[in-house]
Amino acid sequence: MASWVLIEGGTVIDGTGAAPVPGCSVLVRGDRIEAVGPDAGATEGVVPRGDEVTRIDAAGKTVMPGLIDAHCHTSFGETRMQEEQDLYTSHELRTLRSAWNVTKVLRSGVTGISDPGGSYFVGVGIREGIAEGLIQGPKMTTAGRFITTSNGISDWYPSSVGVPDSSIGTLANTTDEMVTEIRHQVKNGVDLIKIGDSLLGDFEAFSPDEIKAMSDTAHRLNKRITMHARGSNNVDSAVAAELDWIMHGNTLRDDTIERLAESKIPLCPALLLLGNLAEFGPAVGVPMATRDAYAGLLEDTAESLHKARQAGVTIICGTDTGFAATPYGEWHARELELLVRYAGMTPLEAIKAATHDTAVVLDPGADTGALQPGKGADVIVVDGDPLADIRVLQDKRRISTVILRGEVQRFDDEVLAQRRPYEQAQHICPDIITYDSVYNGDGAGAGGAGTAEQPDVRDFAADGDKELAAELADRAAALAETA
Ligand SMILES: [Zn+2]
Repeated sequence: MASWVLIEGGTVIDGTGAAPVPGCSVLVRGDRIEAVGPDAGATEGVVPRGDEVTRIDAAGKTVMPGLIDAHCHTSFGETRMQEEQDLYTSHELRTLRSAWNVTKVLRSGVTGISDPGGSYFVGVGIREGIAEGLIQGPKMTTAGRFITTSNGISDWYPSSVGVPDSSIGTLANTTDEMVTEIRHQVKNGVDLIKIGDSLLGDFEAFSPDEIKAMSDTAHRLNKRITMHARGSNNVDSAVAAELDWIMHGNTLRDDTIERLAESKIPLCPALLLLGNLAEFGPAVGVPMATRDAYAGLLEDTAESLHKARQAGVTIICGTDTGFAATPYGEWHARELELLVRYAGMTPLEAIKAATHDTAVVLDPGADTGALQPGKGADVIVVDGDPLADIRVLQDKRRISTVILRGEVQRFDDEVLAQRRPYEQAQHICPDIITYDSVYNGDGAGAGGAGTAEQPDVRDFAADGDKELAAELADRAAALAETA
């Protein structure tokens, strides 16, 4: 006996870019879409007598495919500092927390994610846990640790520390080491390989030949491969090596855009991290200079994305969720708003990008991401009209129903509202204590400790924000130098 769900009388946006259809129903049989249309609610002769049908009234609401996030780091743990991401929290505990976080992602209307790299093989475990029904989370594909060189993203510590086992990256400085690492990761169950080129795209951490060798190895093993590539030269190498999709592409020359368009390789800009730091960062202590640098990078990215779209590049949706600036289940749908603002998409185009077009990161055949008969039944019902205001998708209270694999999901919103940040770097003492700062209140310590009678008590959490801010300021300065 099949299970049936009938979503009745809503305005259907099917994800293919087709115009919305008001007064439309969606019939789900098992984990598949059975029928879509104004008459799909007439189940007589379709649903066998005796089969139960779960009915959802969608009158006045929008029915659309669940969102897909191509860039969701399930194991990052809402990182405030690099050390939190790389050094602290055992992999056992990190896995449990990741399992908890993916439920938040699903709750926000995201029914599919791709994890482009993180700690150990946590992503593989989470994917399997979801598939087995141990964990409530979206459909998922995952990479393992980023493959980096001594010059790439994720080899950030002094050489005396190196790239520890617990890091989100793994070091490979020769082609042989890169190929060996890919073999190891594939043996351990990854769906894709993540290459971590330079942080800002201002130089090339890998040679084009090395990237090609990694691409060939991944493809020979029937796995896919993507790369953190912010600059033109990085994207050129990624295109030449025929990677499956490319992350970021912030500052692109016209000739690079031409080659990218011709290759048909999708580009995932992942604007959210930049957008949140630029627009909301100052509220948590990100300095204005840093804010301005991120805003500047966003403007450059906007120019690249407008040209890329004009040239016919497929832009897909990813958020870089997993940082403190991009916590789980909070801002995934804001990427659509940013695609409207920075890539010039209409809301309907942004929805197509975040559903139909991004589905390719889940499987090459794109078995979901559109409300069409035969597709996987991953559906959300939205109390509002995202075509009138794309931001309604960001308010979880408006995501009134989430259906995954044909099953209506239940959530405990009060539990999911809790947050579990990872341990910070270990302060011994967050500021310098001098005689004068203690007894004369002259501010001799960096924080100006006040007097012995009533010393100011420093706020460790706020101090953490300052360290993050200082690091961001350094990166912004580096960015300004290369601009
Ligand atoms: Zn990322």
